[in-house]
Amino acid sequence: MVATTSAQDNSPFFSLLPPEIREMIYQDIWSHSGSRQHIYKEEDDKWSHVPCVADYSTGDTRFEKFTQSARGSEEEYHWVKRLKSEWCYHWCCEQSTPKWHKAQTPNKRWREENVKHAGPSGFMNLMLVCKRMYREALPSLFANTTFIFTDLLEARTWLTLYGGNPEKLPIRSLEICILTTQLMTELYFPTSEENEGPNPTFGHNNNSSSNSNHTQDSHPGISMHSNPWQRVCDQLALLPNLHNLHIWFHTRDLRDWHKRMSETRFFAKLFDVKVKDRNKFVLALPDLPLKPKRGLPSHHFFENETLEGAPFVVERGPRPNNWRVHLMASGLRGP
Ligand SMILES: [Zn+2]
Repeated sequence: MVATTSAQDNSPFFSLLPPEIREMIYQDIWSHSGSRQHIYKEEDDKWSHVPCVADYSTGDTRFEKFTQSARGSEEEYHWVKRLKSEWCYHWCCEQSTPKWHKAQTPNKRWREENVKHAGPSGFMNLMLVCKRMYREALPSLFANTTFIFTDLLEARTWLTLYGGNPEKLPIRSLEICILTTQLMTELYFPTSEENEGPNPTFGHNNNSSSNSNHTQDSHPGISMHSNPWQRVCDQLALLPNLHNLHIWFHTRDLRDWHKRMSETRFFAKLFDVKVKDRNKFVLALPDLPLKPKRGLPSHHFFENETLEGAPFVVERGPRPNNWRVHLMASGLRGP
């Protein structure tokens, strides 16, 4: 790339404008194209991106919308899909992807009337102008974009590819929004109060390149210390320029979060991640009920003393109740 890059001396953009002004122009284009971008893989395994259109501040309204929709309607069908979506509260962003549209079969007209499309994202145009602009603008793109992931494997693969070059690719802002599987949380569940050591490894091949884990058999060799989530944490801990990190979790488990999730074990590795300002490192977790109703002792939850020395702040909020969604979507909505 370096050897074949033309200096573009005849271009007024490069010969007349100083680098600071060019940088300002790039930044303007990033913010105009959507400075928050979802990074995901299309069906053909190619990386793709869509601008984020979700408004985090309005909260997750999916369950409410689902209960308000008419029984058996197309609308109800789509709210159930959104409630089960791996993109969670980013379901509206997911609907901008070609992958989502290909996966929809019923009622094209309803979709066209009810699904908003995101506008085309302009920043790739700039990257394709010439090699000089590509090389000059790339660090600026990485420093000024929030990259959003909704899949642990995709996050891990992308961070492995691009996380090791902080000079040219200074990743500063990340969001990770995960609907985790039951198997993942079970890996961290203490087998007994007396024995809180590492849980056994599922499967038999510790060197396998494991996948996001739907069943034990299809993804052998994962344990509490070796699984896609741990690898994402390892990659995050290597990033030297993080200014903003937002991690949001919910589970697919039909049972309550507070009965099956040991937060202090599951998120222990986040203590190794460095973000310059602690308030910009947010771990968003489900609300907890009052203590007597919890299934695990209090040292498994992030509160008070368990948060001492944590490099992040915990922000709690409501999550869709999986059990109720399951019952209601199975036709047991009641009157
Ligand atoms: Zn989004």
